[in-house]
Amino acid sequence: MLGLMQDWPLTVDRILDHAAHRHGTREIVSRSVEGPVVRTTYAELHGRAKQVSHGLRELGIARGDRVATLAWNSARHMEVWYGIMGIGAVCHTLNPRLHPDQLCWIIQNAGDQVILADIGFAPMLLAALATRETPVERLILLSDEAHRPPQAGPDVLMYEDWLAGRPATDAAGAPAWGRFGEETACGLCYTSGTTGDPKGVLYSHRSNFLHTFLILQADIMGLSAADVILPIVPMFHANAWGVAFAAPAVGAKMVMPGSRLDGASVHELLETEGVTFSAAVPTVWQGLLQHLDATGGKLTTLKRVVIGGSACPEVLLRRFWDDYGVEVRHAWGMTETSPVGTMGAPDARAAALPFAEQLPWRMKQGRPPLGIELKLVDDGGAEVAEDGVSVGRLMVRGPTVARGYFARDGEVLDADGFFDTGDIASIDPHGVMQITDRAKDVIKSGGEWISSIEIENIATSHPGVAMAAVVGVAHPKWDERPLLLVQLKPGATADGKAMQDHLSGRIAKWWMPDDVVFLDEIPLGATGKVDKKALRAKFAERYAATELSAAG
Ligand code: AMP
Repeated sequence: MLGLMQDWPLTVDRILDHAAHRHGTREIVSRSVEGPVVRTTYAELHGRAKQVSHGLRELGIARGDRVATLAWNSARHMEVWYGIMGIGAVCHTLNPRLHPDQLCWIIQNAGDQVILADIGFAPMLLAALATRETPVERLILLSDEAHRPPQAGPDVLMYEDWLAGRPATDAAGAPAWGRFGEETACGLCYTSGTTGDPKGVLYSHRSNFLHTFLILQADIMGLSAADVILPIVPMFHANAWGVAFAAPAVGAKMVMPGSRLDGASVHELLETEGVTFSAAVPTVWQGLLQHLDATGGKLTTLKRVVIGGSACPEVLLRRFWDDYGVEVRHAWGMTETSPVGTMGAPDARAAALPFAEQLPWRMKQGRPPLGIELKLVDDGGAEVAEDGVSVGRLMVRGPTVARGYFARDGEVLDADGFFDTGDIASIDPHGVMQITDRAKDVIKSGGEWISSIEIENIATSHPGVAMAAVVGVAHPKWDERPLLLVQLKPGATADGKAMQDHLSGRIAKWWMPDDVVFLDEIPLGATGKVDKKALRAKFAERYAATELSAAG
């Protein structure tokens, strides 16, 4: 027997319909690519998104066709998204930090027919498209005729002029949004491809809709209509971690930072717009705290930040709380999980403790919400105990988790339907998960694992350190030994001995990095995470000449 409830497909166009209808005057504020801060509302954005849909239809875009965006976070980027998704086409978010060769490979693999891009990317994109084979038929630049870049020939459309005069509603035979099944493909986002070619994760309307409900849970992001949200995490990094759907779903005000993600620019927006909630990778927050240290600036409205994408150093959690009264929630997730998988909101046990005693708990990546199942397995696929000590490969299952990759054959799930995250983790008896390493970053020394994340964490608590990374380097006796790379804060001094002294007593003796290298800048990958692959390659020979008796 079937239930007698309505058939109401979970498609994301309904999210913006709802925002426009129930929160129509709520603002979306953007630092525009042209320079000034510009303001719009959900009602206006909704109308312009419909205009985008009309324009795309006229260009011949139909359900299932891929339309790419190459843009920073802005209201324009949002209206383009909903305009694409609303007609059942697939919104493919390109990452501008990728090399043009990789970008074109992804465009080719995805079969993108149209690209809508910020004007700042026009020179790079036009040069890349001119010299390589791609399926792209049309480039639309997200500005007006007055800002047409000199490189853009007459076949390149300028967005505002292309949009002007198109209907902002469904009226009179114009295309309607929705009216397709909730399993219809909705968004496409490629993983960073640190191993092999990048892989396309193809979200459905249903998975994005359910992910919106999932992250709105109080112990996940817990967003509300009263919130003012600054998504610093880019829309091309797994849907700005879902915020581009969740904020309109509840009618929160959005503050879009454009391309300026440095400490000073972020601080200015936080204060002038009264931001209460924000989300970004750790490196962005380190930049903000350094700016506040240098200027004595305050955070007068911010209440909560989500930090994820890579392990959150303890110093961020502590300083946000002690110095600014801001709660940090540590999140884990990946492109393949839409992306939120776990969140470090305190449970009753942890919440009862003074903040300093909550720290070890909050450092972990947290608990999965309803809709995410986790398990740990060993190399043979047998389940590992959830005792908070044993570690294994982290496996995940749920309606917001990928079951395959775009245009790529091959099974990615185990026999029970779990996806292998490639992360190594423990889970304690209370269900709290902690990542010890990415499987490919794990350091194996004398047959035992060393957690790079734990050493990095302690190294970053040194007052002179801006950023730290630990990589495994081949060693003649121990297979691999840890090497510590350090980027100091401007004006700070420390030598290798000082770093080793700082670690001493805080980590097992055999975990001690044999060497410390100071870099002007630790290289970051396309999603703002430390590029360990580049560091491993650069320092591959560091211990090659080590005397066999020296280490250990
Ligand atoms: P991406 O798909 O680019 O977002 O990368 C996902 C990967 O980032 C995960 O599989 C983890 O290895 C890593 N990651 C994400 N969040 C965290 C976190 N809070 N702590 C440690 N690693 C993380």
